[in-house]
Amino acid sequence: MHKKRIPWNKGTKGICKPTKTSFKKGEHIGKDHWHWKGGKKKTKNGYIQLRRPLHPFCNKDGYIYEHRVIMELYLGRYLKSNEVVHHINDNREDNRIENLKLLSDNKEHFVLHMRHHGNYPNHKLNNDDILKIRKMAKLGKSRKNIAKKFRIDPSHISRIILRTCWKYI
Ligand SMILES: [Zn+2]
Repeated sequence: MHKKRIPWNKGTKGICKPTKTSFKKGEHIGKDHWHWKGGKKKTKNGYIQLRRPLHPFCNKDGYIYEHRVIMELYLGRYLKSNEVVHHINDNREDNRIENLKLLSDNKEHFVLHMRHHGNYPNHKLNNDDILKIRKMAKLGKSRKNIAKKFRIDPSHISRIILRTCWKYI
């Protein structure tokens, strides 16, 4: 469960974002911080996070996933903790609303990934993987073996080789 937080609307004056007065003067946080990048950062697993210290579901550092915030703005409500926001084109940095799909839980997310992406929700292929997969196929490795190595579905390997997906690489 989430720890008790500052009320979501404290100091926001009707808009859901921090104001200048949210920060104590002289404190090296926010815009005064040497590491400030407009309150945006990328996580180790490739997601974008925004600094939203007043958001009720932000983490202990005051950050929240951008794709969740964008979905919340679109829906006009906060997401429930079990709700999942999926990236339709599998690109975790593409947080345009048309690339986001709201799912009711992780199970639905798992099924969708297996069916349409041939991978696990927490698994992402990068450009290097695609090149490696195509090279292995050229060298005569079986699709089943390649799929096993990259932890994805053999049918997804076919789509990569036939360039019905990842066609720009
Ligand atoms: Zn997903």
